[in-house]
Amino acid sequence: MSNKVTIDTDECIGCQTCVELCPDVFSFDTDTEKAEVRSEATGNEECIEDAADACPASCIIVEKE
Ligand code: SF4
Repeated sequence: MSNKVTIDTDECIGCQTCVELCPDVFSFDTDTEKAEVRSEATGNEECIEDAADACPASCIIVEKE
């Protein structure tokens, strides 16, 4: 079982909190100045929930599968 993680980039303010908390899953796109989900991320890392909770824009969406 794994979770699907997406970022609503329209809402992302580029604070990089998610990247600091969970660098295996989130990276920062310096072109768009938004966070993005790494393509190889499994969705199982515990820090995903921490990042979603800490995101000031509440734009990290975790879908339980
Ligand atoms: S914590 Fe939220 S607002 Fe900040 S960079 Fe990550 S997705 Fe964007």
